[in-house]
Amino acid sequence: MALVNEHFLKLPNNYLFADIAKKVNAFKVTHPKADIISLGIGDVTQPLCSAVIEAMHKAADEMGTASGFHGYGPEQGYDFLREAILKNDFLPRGIHLDIDEIFVNDGAKSDTGNIQELIRWDNSIGVTDPIYPVYIDSNVMIGRAGTVEDGKWSNVIYMPCNAENGFVPQIPDRRVDVIYLCYPNNPTGMVITREELRKWVNYALKNDTLIFYDAAYQAYIQDDNIPHSIYEIRGARRCAIEFHSYSKTAGFTGIRCGYTVVPKDLTAATLTGERIPLNPLWYRRQCTKFNGTSYISQRAAEAIYTPEGKVQIKDTINYYMQNAKEMLTTLRSLGFECYGGENAPYIWMRVPEGFQKEVGMTPTSSWRFFENLLYGANVVCTPGVGFGPAGEGYVRFTAFGSHEKTAEALNRIEKWSK
Ligand SMILES: *Cc1c(COP(=O)(O)O)cnc(C)c1O
Repeated sequence: MALVNEHFLKLPNNYLFADIAKKVNAFKVTHPKADIISLGIGDVTQPLCSAVIEAMHKAADEMGTASGFHGYGPEQGYDFLREAILKNDFLPRGIHLDIDEIFVNDGAKSDTGNIQELIRWDNSIGVTDPIYPVYIDSNVMIGRAGTVEDGKWSNVIYMPCNAENGFVPQIPDRRVDVIYLCYPNNPTGMVITREELRKWVNYALKNDTLIFYDAAYQAYIQDDNIPHSIYEIRGARRCAIEFHSYSKTAGFTGIRCGYTVVPKDLTAATLTGERIPLNPLWYRRQCTKFNGTSYISQRAAEAIYTPEGKVQIKDTINYYMQNAKEMLTTLRSLGFECYGGENAPYIWMRVPEGFQKEVGMTPTSSWRFFENLLYGANVVCTPGVGFGPAGEGYVRFTAFGSHEKTAEALNRIEKWSK
């Protein structure tokens, strides 16, 4: 008899975006003619840029020739891409990494989920709350998160981020083995200053804590004072692993490519106190379980570092950030309390008074607001509580739509709210 991994059974079987789809479908049944605009799911909408398309055509043609055919590539990625990463994403910020510290992957979701394989099952983990659900769920699946009660896992330390604390998570007053940070943040769209990030690095060095730093949205940072990488902070090479993705940077959600940085200085301890470098461990893990990202995808990623590619992806990012600006302006002018949206493609909005959770009501305030907006304005947002307990009382809007749809959605919200 094969025994199932029962940790999977602890996962809440409601997946946020499936629940949203269900509610939208229920609405469509009774309102078949309604034209719904989604400012909900975090997928991009604008086409790939021409530099990327040309590189993919060229790579596809190469693959059809005997001399240009590429079979299995290096598990950690081709040097042409890893060199472009070092030269463009790190050197200009004064960060010197070795090429063997870069691991090209098929996107950041896989590695942010897989990385916990490097640490023992009984490490404690800490997350800012609300948060990208992958970090916690991947720990649940191997039994590290404990049991769930009131939406909180018993072995997870939650660091709430809300309007009251300015979305600055408080450094824990005890030691935590592993901490997940994501900046710019999904879902709140907020960023971390260099000073705040330095506090985390210092905490990690002092407490022998490992930081998993998700920088998937770093390309959206507009303010020069905001760090793009945790390695801009001295000492981070000894305490942090960093994740990057081309999904939001260059519209690669359907191409699949990203990378993880595992510095060679980074170690974790055995029970007897011996320090084990994590870079060779991750290399070993990837060689066993991962067979590389496709040659065509890696050539596509390389193309975004060309002069044309850089201009083109910046244009698309500016396009989304223009949406974010208009959303912030309109929503604020209507009296809504909004956060984020200045260095990230997400607006985090506080659910206004009338929708607050009532005693004994099952739908929580963020779900109530979601339904009211859907039925009243035919606009879809994401209930904040889906990202963690501290997300209750907020909803997320994404700036990834077209200008036209975004403007139309704002018009409808304006009419509905009056
Ligand atoms: C979108 C996103 C990613 C990237 O996922 P991919 O697998 O690279 O598409 C990573 N982290 C966060 C927080 C995200 O929102």
